[in-house]
Amino acid sequence: MNRGMSLKKLVGFQSLLNSVKEVIEPLNSQDLRDQTRINYTISDCVLSNFAMMFFQDASMLQFQRKMEDEYQNSNLRNLFGIKHIPSDSTLRTMLDKINPNTFAPIFSNIITKLNSSGELKKFSIDGKYLCLIDGSQYHCSNKVNCKHCLTKNHRNKTTSYAHQVLVPAIVNPKLKEVLPLMPEEIRNEDGKEKQDCEINAAKRLIPKLKQYNLPFILCGDAMFASQNIIELTQENGFSYILTTKSETLKERVGQSSRLRGKEVIVKNKKYLYEWLNEVSLNYNTKTIMVNYFSLKIIDIETAEVSYKNSWVTDLKIEGELVETFVEAARSRWKIENECFNILKNNGYEMEHNYGHGEEYLAANYFLLTLLSHLFHQIHQLVDEVYQKLRAKKGPLVVLWNDLKVAIKMIIFDSWDQLLNYLLSPPKIYASQLMTS
Ligand SMILES: [Zn+2]
Repeated sequence: MNRGMSLKKLVGFQSLLNSVKEVIEPLNSQDLRDQTRINYTISDCVLSNFAMMFFQDASMLQFQRKMEDEYQNSNLRNLFGIKHIPSDSTLRTMLDKINPNTFAPIFSNIITKLNSSGELKKFSIDGKYLCLIDGSQYHCSNKVNCKHCLTKNHRNKTTSYAHQVLVPAIVNPKLKEVLPLMPEEIRNEDGKEKQDCEINAAKRLIPKLKQYNLPFILCGDAMFASQNIIELTQENGFSYILTTKSETLKERVGQSSRLRGKEVIVKNKKYLYEWLNEVSLNYNTKTIMVNYFSLKIIDIETAEVSYKNSWVTDLKIEGELVETFVEAARSRWKIENECFNILKNNGYEMEHNYGHGEEYLAANYFLLTLLSHLFHQIHQLVDEVYQKLRAKKGPLVVLWNDLKVAIKMIIFDSWDQLLNYLLSPPKIYASQLMTS
């Protein structure tokens, strides 16, 4: 078997989909509904919702139902293994009830497969993996809300309702692809007086990252550079690189005779790196020791500082490594650019109103969108036909529009057949179809 074939077997669409099915099919046996009266299984409901997010098309199910009626077959059956496509209201009711944490093993199963395929290695930095943690908001409204919404009372006496989430993602500064992992909701639970916040969500998320069994370097913004979070990170066996805004820390660093620095000139710009190993994070007696590094970018002609930032880490910093660390730390923008913005701009209908629900509907739609993104990123990483198609079609949105149109008109046997069809469509004239 050649490399492409074996990769397809390990991390192709079907294998990734199997990771989803392995987790959701057991839900059918836990179904408490009267089995003699149900038309649809829980797994068919989850898969139909997933297929809708995968193709980023709210109208696709309607077309596939029509195919079912006319041909007793559909792309949902052939591509996703869905036996019956439930009605929209059934889909929403069912998805609203499933706790998103049920889906967590899907993400770890997929990352494990990617690891055993050897493809995850591309993300490795010195045997470790950068895991960015960033917050995002996927719902905000003055009207639509549920009891789990985060609320904000405004001066003009209005209230806004939001859903926010922390998303971890594996990145490498040298790669375009970003691998989103199981997100952690920031949500209000019953009976809690204080609203949930990013710090509490991070405290729940960090221990859960152990499920991936990977040596992570957690990267996050200054909010997370507290002793609490750093200690939690280390207790769970992870390294960290966190932005710091602490002025008192910078003062201590500035006063140290051990402070090291180096300058690199690139195209009229001076990159000034400074670093100091073993400095106390806080003033108090129980403080921990951290390693500090910073970057200032200065325009040589104008002496203007165009960028400056500082970080703390547990990784020992040496002259050669400081640039790698800065590069890693600065790749935080990637999760914004390659993940959230793509989700928002390139056709993923995250803001589209699929329904909010009362319990978990909005959260699950976000999660299934993120899972679709993970599929697409892996296709981009390992699937030659998908890569060729992307190169041929240009913007992502063009490729996905073509995919959406194709599955509305033709019933394909598999995802691979669909991709191959789009890559080299057969030359057919309508007149030939008419006479045959
Ligand atoms: Zn809500």
